[in-house]
Amino acid sequence: MMSVLAPPRLRPYQPFPLRVARATRLSSSFVRVTLTGEALADFAYHGFDQRINLLFLPPDTDHEAFARAADWRACGAPLRVYTVRAYRPESAELDIDFVLHGDASPASRWAGAAAPGDRIVLIGATPGHPVTDVAWRPPATADRLLIAADATALPAASAILESLDRPARAVLEVPYADDRLPVAGRHDITWLVRAHGDRIEPAVRSLLGGAPVTACVPPGEDEGMVWDVPSQAAGSFYAWLAGESRTVVALRRHLVGDRGIDRDAVAFMGYWKR
Ligand SMILES: Cc1cc2nc3c(=O)[nH]c(=O)nc-3n(C[C@H](O)[C@H](O)[C@H](O)COP(=O)(O)OP(=O)(O)OC[C@H]3O[C@@H](n4cnc5c(N)ncnc54)[C@H](O)[C@@H]3O)c2cc1C
Repeated sequence: MMSVLAPPRLRPYQPFPLRVARATRLSSSFVRVTLTGEALADFAYHGFDQRINLLFLPPDTDHEAFARAADWRACGAPLRVYTVRAYRPESAELDIDFVLHGDASPASRWAGAAAPGDRIVLIGATPGHPVTDVAWRPPATADRLLIAADATALPAASAILESLDRPARAVLEVPYADDRLPVAGRHDITWLVRAHGDRIEPAVRSLLGGAPVTACVPPGEDEGMVWDVPSQAAGSFYAWLAGESRTVVALRRHLVGDRGIDRDAVAFMGYWKR
């Protein structure tokens, strides 16, 4: 008699062994790496600022065997957080936009050299579980949306803006002028270019009507990476702030401390630490 086995239940997050389909240089700072693989059939796409982890295993690792067998948390390989910039299930392709910041660190080095056929393991969501990998959670009542992001959060900010059914105000800081990548939709975007001396804190302050001075968090304060995504947001204003850790702390302080905005209306996330 034939035995009918139930398919194995997928864990909420699992390793997806993938390969590079292509790497496209977008600008001075960004490379778009398009990943593909049959494993993506089990990937749950949630849109907005959906985050995934990338595991940078030694190139001679059997990535398929690793994904099937290993406890990826214990493998010791560098693990970094990135954003799904776009997902095309019909062609089993997933785009990640990497900021290149030199060859000394694992993710930037890997992305800078990525070529078709290179292997990587992505840790991502599977279908049928609560969504916990999206931080963009504005209340339905919010009609004043503020997004402030540096280059590392530009892929997330762009994906959010392109998914929105309402107009938003965005302040986006990038290293160079050609990093101002196209964002679809009719939003009010202020681009800031670090090479021109632009900075995100004074820009957000002056946008909100405050004095255009730099809010600086002194070194030594706030040593950890910050992450606060309120789930009880209400009201007509919602802010999503992401980027360098101390910068988003300064922005959040300005909104909550100086401008009196309800802390539940402000999501702020340290994406990296200078
Ligand atoms: C939710 C989330 C989503 C993210 N999405 C993206 C994304 O889509 N694209 C993206 O590029 N990044 C993204 N990041 C940021 C990314 O995870 C970090 O920049 C990460 O540190 C890069 O890893 P690395 O191995 O290159 O550098 P690390 O080994 O982590 O860092 C080495 C050194 O490089 C410095 N550094 C790290 N990032 C930068 C940078 N961008 N510019 C200058 N110096 C830097 C650090 O301060 C550190 O001193 C995201 C982070 C989070 C939390």
